[in-house]
Amino acid sequence: MRIDIVTIFPEMVEPYTNGSILGRAQKNKKVTIKVHQLRKWTHDNHKTVDDKPFGGGPGMLMKVAPFHEALVSLKLRTKDGKKTAASKKARVIVTSAKGKSFTQKDAVRLSKYDRLVFLCGRYEGIDERVIEHLCDEELSIGPYVLTGGELPAMVMADAVVRLKPGVLGKAESLARESHTVEGELEHAQYTRPEKYSLNKKKSWDVPAILLSGDHKKIEEWRRGLSGAK
Ligand code: SAM
Repeated sequence: MRIDIVTIFPEMVEPYTNGSILGRAQKNKKVTIKVHQLRKWTHDNHKTVDDKPFGGGPGMLMKVAPFHEALVSLKLRTKDGKKTAASKKARVIVTSAKGKSFTQKDAVRLSKYDRLVFLCGRYEGIDERVIEHLCDEELSIGPYVLTGGELPAMVMADAVVRLKPGVLGKAESLARESHTVEGELEHAQYTRPEKYSLNKKKSWDVPAILLSGDHKKIEEWRRGLSGAK
């Protein structure tokens, strides 16, 4: 899988995509993540990516042309705005507070594409023509407004990449975790020490059932907590 993230702040995104599990996934060739400076696709001295909204309103909007040129350069759209053959196995996603809410189901669905492109907005948002003509989906990471699409792109890329085979150390980690089945959450988990002593009289203890060695009972206890049927 290849992921492209188009932003005016690549320096915010790269430390995340090059670190920890995403960084390791790239080193192990499970995924390639390229972060692009949107201003590369401007032609004026100031490398302008924004302009005033038609009809008035506060702030600035991101222009359609740099995003279009970015997608042409990534070979996913033609100069006349059509989809290319490569775009059939790709998904172009606009990060947007007004988009559909991203869920674990979307992460699973998106993990099946060869290519994902995240377009990151800033300012008051993006010219609607990017959403109408250049993207496949407009996704939000939750009902709140952030200053930019970089965190949403990182959140979605992270949720997708960890599902790819070989990215996590243990495949079982994916089998039974929160949201794998809609409405089910992971059971509570504990590690050593069994007894965390706060003072001579008070301690926080691991539930006795987990120390019982009775795997059937432990399983029942866990299922009871997870909401599993
Ligand atoms: N004026 C826009 C609105 O009311 O929907 C908010 C613009 S926001 C300040 C700037 C950019 O941040 C957006 O274009 C989008 O790319 C990103 N963004 C903000 N909140 C987001 C969210 N919850 N999910 C995804 N992207 C978000």
